[in-house]
Formats: sequence, C-alpha cells, structure tokens
Amino acid sequence: MARSPRYPVASPCPACGHPELDVFHCQDGIPTNSCLLLDTRSEAERFPRGRMEFGFCHACGFLANIAFEEAEYSSRYEETQGFSKLFVEWAQDLAKRWVDKYDLHGKSVLEIGCGKGEFLVWMVEAGAGSGVGIDPGVHPERIDSEVADRLTWVADFYSEEYAHLEADAVVCRHTLEHIAPVGEFMATVRKAIGDRPETIVLFELPDVARVLDEVAFWDVYHEHCSYFSLGSLARLFRRTGFEVLHLELDYDGQYLLIEARPSTVPAPGEPNALEDDLEALTKGVDKYWEEYGAIKGAWRQRLADLRAKGGKAVIWGAGSKGVAYLTNLGLLDEIEYAVDINPYKTGKFMAGTGQQIVAPEFLVDYKPDLVIAMNPIYLGEIRAKLDELGLDPELVGA
Ligand SMILES: [Zn+2]
Repeated sequence: MARSPRYPVASPCPACGHPELDVFHCQDGIPTNSCLLLDTRSEAERFPRGRMEFGFCHACGFLANIAFEEAEYSSRYEETQGFSKLFVEWAQDLAKRWVDKYDLHGKSVLEIGCGKGEFLVWMVEAGAGSGVGIDPGVHPERIDSEVADRLTWVADFYSEEYAHLEADAVVCRHTLEHIAPVGEFMATVRKAIGDRPETIVLFELPDVARVLDEVAFWDVYHEHCSYFSLGSLARLFRRTGFEVLHLELDYDGQYLLIEARPSTVPAPGEPNALEDDLEALTKGVDKYWEEYGAIKGAWRQRLADLRAKGGKAVIWGAGSKGVAYLTNLGLLDEIEYAVDINPYKTGKFMAGTGQQIVAPEFLVDYKPDLVIAMNPIYLGEIRAKLDELGLDPELVGA
C-alpha cells in the first residue's frame, strides 16, 4: 500500500515555537466532533467534516493536527467514561492519591475542563475542602453526592477571565489535548497562579508514544488537536514556568500524569530519565507513517472476510475511538452497530459513519460473531458482560 506524502510545513510548534513541523499523516473527511450524540442517522451522516494534518516537532516532540478548527463542546458532548467500573475505580483511586500525596485535606481545588464533574466530586469526597469545576459541558444536575454543596460549577471554557479563582490545587484532566495553543494555555494557567508557589498543578492526558508505536489510528481524531508524550509534556511545563515534581504513565500505560508546581520561567531542575524520548518519538512517527496503510488494510480485509461468510461484527465503545476507527476504515455495511454501556448514548447515532448505538443487551438477539473493543483495557469488563448475557463471540482489542 502506498504511503502518504510527508513534508515539512512552516508552521510554528504551538508548544516550543520551533518554526517547522514534519507533517506525516493527512486525512480529509474526519467528523469535526466525535462525542456529540445525534438523534438520527441522516443527521449523523451529514455531520460536519474536517481535515487532519498530523505534524511532529523534531525540537520538542510535540504533535499536533495543524488543520484543526474549533470543535463544538456543549452539554450535547458525551465523553464520560464514568459508566465503566474499571475506569471509575482507577480514577477514584487517583483522586484519593492526589488528595493524600499533596495533603489537599480541607483545601480548595480548581478543575479546568471538569467534564461531567465526577473527578472533582471524588476529590472532595476523598477529603478536599471545596471544588470549582469549569467546563462548557458540565451537567450539575447529574451530580448526586453528599458533598454537592461544597462544589461550584461554571459552564464555560477556562480563560484569563477566571484568573481570580484561587485554589490550592489546579487539576486538568483530558483537556490539554483538546487545546491547540498549548503554550499560550499553560502560560495563562501559570499567570493565574501568580505568586502562590505552594499551588499544586495536576494534569492527566493520553500518551502519544503508545499511539505511534501501536499505529493506533482510532486514537487520532479531530477534537484531539494536541498530542503529548512524557517528555514533550514535561518540556512544555518547564518552558512555561512549572517545576515538574512527578511524572508517570498510568492506566495500563495509556495516560500521562504530571504533577508540578509554579516556578520561574523556564523552571529549574534537571529532566528525569523518562523525559528522554525524542529519539523514540521520531521512530514512532516513522512507524506510523510507514505502517498506517497496511494496518488499516488488514482490518478492512478481516471485516470484509467475516461479512462474506455471513458473519456480523460490532464495535464496543461508541466514543471518539469508535468514531475514528469507523471513519478510518470507511465501513458502513461491515459494522452495523456500536455498543456502549453509557445509557445516555443508547439509540443515538455515531457522528460521520452513522452506526446506531445500542446497549449491550441488544446483542442477545443480534448475536455478533466478532466484538471489537475500542480500548483493550476493557476486554475483561466486556467479556464479563458478554458472559452475563450468555454470549460467546470472538472478542478482540482494536
Ligand atoms: Zn516543539
């Protein structure tokens, strides 16, 4: 399969300002939003499309979709993983770990991009004194907790306008990857913290190194305009005036965790060994560029063969990964349904390719032969659900 062209673009790196990015993967027709729920198939199929131009900065290791245009985030946005027991247990444990490690007992937490607010609730339940959550898609009416009166919600994007909100800890999870001007954003956060050196800054976001190494094209989608590794994230933090206290990969190696505090610009401190990843990232970019076509082709062939034999396949996970997977493969007939355990999604349609979203119970009558888990970390949870439903299809991870 022919490789896509690869070329340098005179576009400054949003993380470090390096004047040129190496564009190695381009794609048209990707839905501009993959977590919006559509009520009808035709609405889903007519969903606005955008372009991907995946660029790599050889100076700092940052990756970005340089063709990104603003995505819609509203209360229609349904991104929560809060219906997965595995995810909930892990995130609750993280909330508690952070409260204990940085002694946030009785202290205030500001969460930028709090989504539906679960994590902030868990931090306060774990002992934090109060929380303010900012997110355009926040749904306060879904919050059912004894600590609800210690929480404040702001339905908006974070900006300088909220610099007056002082907090002992600033938390930001799965948000930085949705922001294009990442350098400016971190500078805004740093400026808002000002001269309060005791403030703890806690970020969590997906790791791009794994995406590149596994050529995980279902993890590359429109809302994710910015992609970080441990090294590129730590470099951005230092450059924008944060001292890196701790850096690690968690959630089966899928998520980056960075714990920092404000410092001078650039921050002092030697990079730790985990940050030395430029060479590995360069190899990962080469691999993605070289193998994308073949890996996509293998999936298409497998699904076409199954259909030719009269078999049925479904994907499990009707979020961004599912939309990206189906869009990349361009499959309509080979996969008719996407399964999701989030009841708010049942009956809706996937942006772009238009598959209907069904609850796991739907499979009892549908009887799929192949279930493709969009995130392999949930294989055990999915297998348990299939067992409960008395089903035994082949189950594979994307
Ligand atoms: Zn850079």
